[in-house]
Amino acid sequence: MKKNILSFVLLILSSNFALFSCTTADAPPNYNKTKTETPDPELVLRSIHDNALIGSPAYAQLRYLCKDIGPRLSGSDNAQKAVEYMQRVLDSMNLDSVYLQPVMVPHWERGEKEFCQVIGNENEKINQKVLDITALGGSVGTNGKLKTQIVAVNSLSDLENLSKKEAKKYKGKIIFVTQPMDARFINTGSAYGGCSSIRVFGVNTAAKVGAKAFLMRSLTLKNDNHPHTGIMIYEKGGKKIPAAALSTNSANYLEKILNKAQKENTSIEMELQLNCEILPDVLSYNVIGELRGREKPEEIITVGGHLDSWDLGEGAHDDGTGCLQSVEVLRLIQKIETKPKRTIRCVLFMSEENGASGAKEYARVAKEKNENHIAALESDSGGFTPRGFRVQDSARLAIIQKWQPLFKPYNLHKVEFGFGGVDINPLGASGTLLIGLEPDSQRYFDHHHAATDVFENVHEREFLLGAAAMASLTYMMAEYGIE
Ligand SMILES: [Zn+2]
Repeated sequence: MKKNILSFVLLILSSNFALFSCTTADAPPNYNKTKTETPDPELVLRSIHDNALIGSPAYAQLRYLCKDIGPRLSGSDNAQKAVEYMQRVLDSMNLDSVYLQPVMVPHWERGEKEFCQVIGNENEKINQKVLDITALGGSVGTNGKLKTQIVAVNSLSDLENLSKKEAKKYKGKIIFVTQPMDARFINTGSAYGGCSSIRVFGVNTAAKVGAKAFLMRSLTLKNDNHPHTGIMIYEKGGKKIPAAALSTNSANYLEKILNKAQKENTSIEMELQLNCEILPDVLSYNVIGELRGREKPEEIITVGGHLDSWDLGEGAHDDGTGCLQSVEVLRLIQKIETKPKRTIRCVLFMSEENGASGAKEYARVAKEKNENHIAALESDSGGFTPRGFRVQDSARLAIIQKWQPLFKPYNLHKVEFGFGGVDINPLGASGTLLIGLEPDSQRYFDHHHAATDVFENVHEREFLLGAAAMASLTYMMAEYGIE
């Protein structure tokens, strides 16, 4: 009797599981390899996902890029090694063409021994507390140890709107903008977007009031000890002062003791040392591989990510995943027996983090050659579970949205207006439809530009699903166009 009940329970459980798990997309693959002009897109997308999830070399390639090469700062030896490695990968794929596109890129180095310490006053226990800090990309160094008073300001706009009288209080000091990313945004990219100008331009506002250095809270929603770097840009003709970011834990601590000091009408000093330097530009390359279209080779669809990265981690999510996903798009499309109708070009852009010179050069050459780039798809939001696509043209959004029923079985529900990507953006001026892969955004800024952006933090299956999502949309655009 007991056995019968157990069998019954197992039967119910297993049939429920079957109901739960067996959606249309989960049906066994039945891809007919008989050559036809245009295969059934539903079967093609199924086949793309099967080939991504079983037997893909992309995760091992990502491991090599992250572990055997490592961080790939623009202009560095590692960036050159990455160019050579990715060229070898593309060369091994039997594509129609593989080539390097030369481009001059900035070369900035962090130097060793970044150091930040609160000196405090004699009555406090804060004396000599060391904070986690990292220079912002492109910053000048402190030229030895900088020791001066530290003062906080709540936001960049508060700093911009200081009266002349108030501004005097900041002269000769280190300014710390305490503003955090707004945790209320569900899409963390929006929270980042609301604060990125602090990192990029905040240093200039601080220099204008006569500050000696500029500090900010790292752009992440996670509280930990890892500072996040990222590009900053000096205004032409303005004074260049050092700029750095504190880890969120260090920023919270510093804000707390500065508030207390203000209430007690005392001041706090800081010792700061950054050894970074700006070196002459270096010759580097965009790495390009192409599958030529069978009927409309002059119509090009570019898929890509950026090969350079910041130096603190391994550039895994930013943007090793985007690069290997873009290469995987070519492999997955090659698995379909019919060649794509239009040309698909994979571009691994150089120096996105340091001003996007690779992206600008690619668009410049495309225009010079009068190439017709009908669409460009970028993955630069991390290798997390794909949710859909951001289309940077509300008038043409419906062209992509009409394929939503085909994407739905793979949970790629979100096809909305949004930013395509920094690397493809310059193509927009020629009318190219710009599209960004939209993965789940919750964990991206935990790792973005920090020491934790390492291979171990990329989940193989989520990363491969992203590649399959990109290949699915690329296939549809290549086969059906974007009319
Ligand atoms: Zn990136």
